[in-house]
Amino acid sequence: MIIVMKTNASQQDIDQTIANVEALGLKPNVIRGTERTVIAAVGEERVAGISSLESGTGVDEVLPVLAPYKLASREVKGESTTVRVGSLSVGNGNIGVIAGPCSVESEEQIVATAHAVQAAGATALRGGAFKPRTSPYSFQGLKEEGLKLLAEARRQSGLAVVTEVVSPDDVPLVAEYADVMQIGARNMQNYRLLEAVGRCNRAVLLKRGPSGTIDEWLLAAEYILDGGNSDVMLCERGIRTFENHTRNTLSLASVPYVQQRTHLPVVVDPSHGTGHTDLVPAMSRAAVAAGADGLILEVHPVPEKALSDGYQSLNFAQFENVMTDCRRIAEAVGRELGGA
Ligand code: PEP
Ligand code: MN
Repeated sequence: MIIVMKTNASQQDIDQTIANVEALGLKPNVIRGTERTVIAAVGEERVAGISSLESGTGVDEVLPVLAPYKLASREVKGESTTVRVGSLSVGNGNIGVIAGPCSVESEEQIVATAHAVQAAGATALRGGAFKPRTSPYSFQGLKEEGLKLLAEARRQSGLAVVTEVVSPDDVPLVAEYADVMQIGARNMQNYRLLEAVGRCNRAVLLKRGPSGTIDEWLLAAEYILDGGNSDVMLCERGIRTFENHTRNTLSLASVPYVQQRTHLPVVVDPSHGTGHTDLVPAMSRAAVAAGADGLILEVHPVPEKALSDGYQSLNFAQFENVMTDCRRIAEAVGRELGGA
């Protein structure tokens, strides 16, 4: 970390700052310029108390050199992580495809969807049983009954199940049924929930918060990794901007950016990222072209009758077309769509 002193900092201010740096276990290297003094502090800068250095008398700025996250960073693990859970493989050239309805609604709906998406090449089934809804009057999900239906769909199709957990108290129950625990966008910074999935032995799909910066998102992943769970997938699902023609603004530049900074695989969600069925195919193709390690897509037998997010869901035929196009693009960028 670099500590830049103010131009009018006194020798006493500099000495005090050096002492503060040493007290944090860092080694100060003092660089005296003609205008101001700079202190390069060498050592583990991700320790409590670092940011307080900035409030020292005569200190102008404290500039971190390392990323704030550690276990999630490429500095600590250079090799890309592949997450494999049953039928789903995300990373290492395999583009995992997680498809299914926003919410589990009935046995018929989830089982038919599982068979249809599998036939088209999906490698995991999604479906929300616990739904975080903006309005308390909206459908809240079938809860445990929904988890049981997902387990039945997995039994019949063999597809790994991805489903959301919204509360730390529900983690043991959801983990009984799920192969992958989804942390929804609204819960990206629910630190007790992140700690709880960090301790459970299930892979995690961590969605980016609607107003989460990339550093905040990777620090959220750090909580899960720090809990001892290394099977973490990031999910870019769009962020809130001033633009309101799309439900969210799908930041595809974050895919290659995040891949430079972290070894964790990145899955893209064009359904929530656009909020319009007719925009989903193009953004799915774009995500694959941008190097995404996975796709998560909302697919419903009859989107116009869906209890949630029908307006952004694909029907079976539309999903099949997306898969056909994305397979060609995957091939062009040296990857395999689905693939295990
Ligand atoms: C979902 O996957 O249905 C969902 C609620 O997504 P998000 O958390 O990204 O809004
Ligand atoms: Mn949804």
